[in-house]
Amino acid sequence: MKNNCVFCAITDGEIPSFRIYEDEFVTAFLDINPFEKGHVLVVPRHHCQGIADVPEDILHGTVSAVRRIAVKIVEATGAKGFNILQNNGEVAGQSVMHLHFHIVPRYSACPLGFVNGKASKEELAELAEKLTEVLSK
Ligand code: 5GP
Ligand code: ZN
Repeated sequence: MKNNCVFCAITDGEIPSFRIYEDEFVTAFLDINPFEKGHVLVVPRHHCQGIADVPEDILHGTVSAVRRIAVKIVEATGAKGFNILQNNGEVAGQSVMHLHFHIVPRYSACPLGFVNGKASKEELAELAEKLTEVLSK
């Protein structure tokens, strides 16, 4: 596995994911243990650990994709808002050491919290199909 990294492997298609979008800078796919329905991870194709070591042009391309994807996900899921979360370092809760942005749709007012839940393969597949379609437009 390149860089011994699960997100590089997902980007390269070596391990499966529910991918919803890709362009020259990023790959976006559903989080396997979503905080909320429609929780998406956006990762640069380029392997880097976090916000501190990502090259500037790649950061710009990635953040631009994050915005585009977030707006479409909100439209497609009927969410009322969303959080963008980006953890740096183990102490900050980063578990995969490849830069990634979480897009977490929010459906109702609740205390801010991020707890991984469970989603079935069928649920993820259905949602991925819908979001892929929305993002292709
Ligand atoms: P972090 O805590 O590093 O900011 O977030 C890592 C996220 O990656 C977690 O929410 C976790 O559920 C997700 N994740 C870890 N491994 C995989 C995987 O193999 N596939 C997918 N789709 N998500 C993963
Ligand atoms: Zn990587």
